[in-house]
Amino acid sequence: MYTQAPIVIIGAGQAGGRLALHLREEGYRGTICLIGDEPHLPYERPPLSKQVLLGESTPTQLSMTTVVQLAEYSIDWRVSTPVTKVDPSNHLLTLENGESLSYQALVFATGGVPRKLSLPGCEAVPILYLRNQADAAALKTALHPSKRVGIIGGGFIGLEIASSAKQLGCDVVVFEAANQLASRVLPAEISNRLFELHQQNDVTIKLQAGIEQLSHHEDKTSVLLKTGERFVFDVLVAGIGIIPNQTLAEAAGLKVGNGILVDAYLQTSHPDIYAIGDVAAIPMNGGHQRIETWRNAEHQARYLAKHLVSPQSEFEDLMWFWSDQFDEGLQVVGETSPTLKATVRQQNEVATFVIYQDEVGCIRGAAGMGKDGCIAKDIKLIERLIAMKKVVSMETLADPSTNLKSLLKGN
Ligand code: FAD
Ligand code: NDP
Repeated sequence: MYTQAPIVIIGAGQAGGRLALHLREEGYRGTICLIGDEPHLPYERPPLSKQVLLGESTPTQLSMTTVVQLAEYSIDWRVSTPVTKVDPSNHLLTLENGESLSYQALVFATGGVPRKLSLPGCEAVPILYLRNQADAAALKTALHPSKRVGIIGGGFIGLEIASSAKQLGCDVVVFEAANQLASRVLPAEISNRLFELHQQNDVTIKLQAGIEQLSHHEDKTSVLLKTGERFVFDVLVAGIGIIPNQTLAEAAGLKVGNGILVDAYLQTSHPDIYAIGDVAAIPMNGGHQRIETWRNAEHQARYLAKHLVSPQSEFEDLMWFWSDQFDEGLQVVGETSPTLKATVRQQNEVATFVIYQDEVGCIRGAAGMGKDGCIAKDIKLIERLIAMKKVVSMETLADPSTNLKSLLKGN
């Protein structure tokens, strides 16, 4: 069909969609084929748990591009077309509709799917998950005022759904297995502030919640905790992490672990095949790690577009993500490892920061949370201080009267 084999991108989500556009913007003149299994143009997911549930944005407003732009960019794009097989030795892939496509380079941008609950009784209970537009539409339909909503998982999905459901007038209970909210990525001070924010807004949060049994009777779902406490809900939602979409890559013989393993150029164990976004496990801390954030999808797509057009040096990035819940925003930048020294910077009641430094005092990361966008400026400044490898004393950082901008001056 094509005179020259195309660059084929599997997955028309955020990373895949962005890569297709960037390839053209970087001057790639060959054929680009973007293949998605959802019935939509590439779109961004962050509003699904926020503006879409709140009714402030419709799913169609999430699209990253338009049919007109894709035509202008000569991108051959397919919707509702799952790729079912990849044959790296023959540079061939097979689509669900039976069509075969050859490729010169192949990119996995297949994201992930929600991890499913495996609790006693769960097979007999209707459980909602949130990953795509169809999930968001189903959840939005279920969240009527005064409905009792149970949420299993106190990570970002669970907490953002809790915030939206509460604002829609639902009664909300969140069950988190750990003794802290979003404990894998947030320091205790920020987790505690999140906990208080939800409590102030009448969301019930059960930490260290061991669930004994789920059951369903006459449209009500019951959650029995190991403590003997029982909760009854109209709607049960779970947000307990994602499983990377790597089965296709694994069947094709690519190296996988928790994600498709790539090197510092985002190349898989096969020279002409790459992986980006949530599915890609990049070299980190002596192993491989997936980064499930909006900015990672953007930056890996931009890097790979450049690299496929002309070889680049290794991909390097600083982790960054945000979350919005009720009237507060939260941002995390850089490293927040418990092995680093942490300084708490409390700016009145308005904002809480935890700033991380290595043993010589070099700033390496930060987490901040505060009202109505008040932390964004300081997080940007901290990002610049990280890039400068700025050494600052813990006392200076902890002092709320220290103007972070002034630290940019000097070495
Ligand atoms: P995706 O966007 O999931 O795209 C992967 C696509 O590949 C999907 O369309 C999938 O269906 C398709 N696909 C899979 N297998 C195949 C196949 N065999 N053939 C064809 N197509 C296939 N991050 C933040 O930093 N801040 C936020 O506030 C935030 N909020 C979020 C809210 C929600 C509700 C969700 C779900 C995520 C949020 N994220 C947020 C995370 C962010 O959206 C993801 O990190 C990002 O979408 C990853 O992009 P991706 O392209 O790797 O994966
Ligand atoms: P996370 O992995 O962030 O959080 C899952 C949470 O559920 C963890 O706190 C986990 O605890 C807890 N958990 C796991 N199993 C159970 C259980 N059986 N009972 C109770 N709690 C349990 O995943 P999410 O589902 O929150 O998010 C899914 C995806 O969406 C991710 O890719 C995320 O990045 C993305 N997302 C990002 C947002 C943002 O950045 N603002 C917003 C919304 C979604 P433990 O850690 O102890 O296992």
